[in-house]
Amino acid sequence: MTANCILERITETKSTNDDLLVRWRAGQLIDPIARIAHKQTAGKGRAGRSWLANPEDSLCFSLAFPFKRTPAELSGLSLLVGLAVISGIAQACDLNESKLHELGLRLKWPNDLLLNGCKLAGILIEGGQAKAGDATWMIIGIGINLRNAEAIEANLGNGLKASSIQQITNSPPDVEYLWLKLIASLEHHLAEFDQHGFKPCMGSWMKWDAYRDHAVCISGAGKDAVNGIAKGVDEFGALLLQQENKTIAIHAGDVSLRIQS
Ligand code: ATP
Repeated sequence: MTANCILERITETKSTNDDLLVRWRAGQLIDPIARIAHKQTAGKGRAGRSWLANPEDSLCFSLAFPFKRTPAELSGLSLLVGLAVISGIAQACDLNESKLHELGLRLKWPNDLLLNGCKLAGILIEGGQAKAGDATWMIIGIGINLRNAEAIEANLGNGLKASSIQQITNSPPDVEYLWLKLIASLEHHLAEFDQHGFKPCMGSWMKWDAYRDHAVCISGAGKDAVNGIAKGVDEFGALLLQQENKTIAIHAGDVSLRIQS
């Protein structure tokens, strides 16, 4: 298996996403690049949140990928990346995807992987199109907990639960091996997405949906919270929320989904 992109391995950085964003803004990106850091000291989540990683227990990398599509045509990308990560994990752990489903792996709209309700991996997508006619460069950051979820959880300090690959398989794959499987899966899924968009993956995403038919609350983006029953996603990857007499579509942006308490 050979990755068709440039591979960069570094010992330490603040954020692999920021490193690649700087290069994109300076017009320095030409070919796809995957950049992995052994230690990431200021990993980012969405909306200014942090992504925590302990060097020995985590895999953190970013992939800069050029799309022919414009930014407006990339809806559903974070959902597609979730599917690509599942496929990469399955290959690296030598398990089929239905076994991962049986073990409790799910996708939380719009951008997280959960294992039995506890966060296993986070996805952060940034980037854009510098000017009309240029490629749209998206920097896809992925953080995965490999082991010691308890240590991560203790550092989160917000009562949220974390999980790790170790809970899927007693002998987590070698980081480099997992990384290469993830890159290969991403390259395949992103190329397909660039051609066909999210629609062909809609059914597949719904099989992994963590909150289908659950009462959920959507909040953030400076708007009032919205409640409803989660009903999967539409062909653009928007979350469908059933309310008393209507179904509304919520687009990703910076909104957060929570189970209604
Ligand atoms: P929300 O839950 O509001 O939708 P999010 O799931 O999109 O937010 P992100 O911004 O993607 O969250 O990720 C950052 C959040 O993930 C942090 O606020 C923290 O609660 C949690 N987190 C950070 N690092 C880890 C980690 N290594 N493992 C599990 N959860 C983490």
